[in-house]
Amino acid sequence: MTDNDFKGMQENKKLLQLEEYIKAGKIAAEVREMIREKNWIGKTVYEICEEVEGEIRKRGAKCAFPVNTSINEIAAHYTAEPNDPITITDSDLVKIDLGAQINGYIADTAVTVCYDAQYDGMVQAAEEALSNAMLMIKGGVKASDIGRTIETTIKQMGYKPIANLSGHSLEQYTIHAGRSIPNIWSIGGFSLSENTAYACEPFVTTRDGGGFVRNGKIKNIFALNSRKKTKDEEADKLLDYIWENFNMLPFALRWITKEWEEKKARGILEYLVSKKAVQAYPVLIEVNEQRVAQAEHTFIPNENGVTVTTET
Ligand code: MN
Ligand code: MN
Repeated sequence: MTDNDFKGMQENKKLLQLEEYIKAGKIAAEVREMIREKNWIGKTVYEICEEVEGEIRKRGAKCAFPVNTSINEIAAHYTAEPNDPITITDSDLVKIDLGAQINGYIADTAVTVCYDAQYDGMVQAAEEALSNAMLMIKGGVKASDIGRTIETTIKQMGYKPIANLSGHSLEQYTIHAGRSIPNIWSIGGFSLSENTAYACEPFVTTRDGGGFVRNGKIKNIFALNSRKKTKDEEADKLLDYIWENFNMLPFALRWITKEWEEKKARGILEYLVSKKAVQAYPVLIEVNEQRVAQAEHTFIPNENGVTVTTET
């Protein structure tokens, strides 16, 4: 094989990845727009998660992570427990964050639904910050400049960005691949690479918010940490199941209760967390318990601009 053949193969692989990113993005965008149009008042978070995940699978993708339904001051990382009874009311601000993946190539996108006009401004600020950020993307743009655009847009609209939540680079079967796209201006930082996937996700709170999140007590999103055997037969069986079905991507208890009885599954999962074989992610709550809105796209910069894979 000549050097040129090798380069050709690499190029071909990149093209294939791009195709898969775009396919996953199209599916995630369709589902997001369905969510935006629908009236979710009176639905439980369990019903929302199951329905949205079903819509992703129906279109031929896998879920890259459990659908997040984070309500009001919970900014992120809440997914439904099995039969979770929490019900959406007409005064709730709900961030629905979803991921679709094809062969591990992920589309990560979010929409905030809200039926009370007094919060429309927050939702618009998140959307506007995201679209202004997308307008400036091309290979080589500085992440700190994206952060500045997001921060300025949100502040001009009378709100505050959440400083310790950020977007991220994506890789095959990896949601947070090491690079952060900040939601505020910060000194230094890196420049975006062409043909690399990133997610940008502005989070907005009120002027009374602290503009930060803290960890909450609830942890209902998990991911594999290590495949090292525990010597407990049932626990090792679950480890294999997680690896085979979710790879290193996040999962929820809901996703294993088809194979394991709920109480038993919860017990084994707790054991795996205590052995550090599985990681549990806490919900993230606005420090002043102010409401939070979010918008998110996945995108791939190129020489002249950007492919927003989750754009409609
Ligand atoms: Mn997301
Ligand atoms: Mn994300």
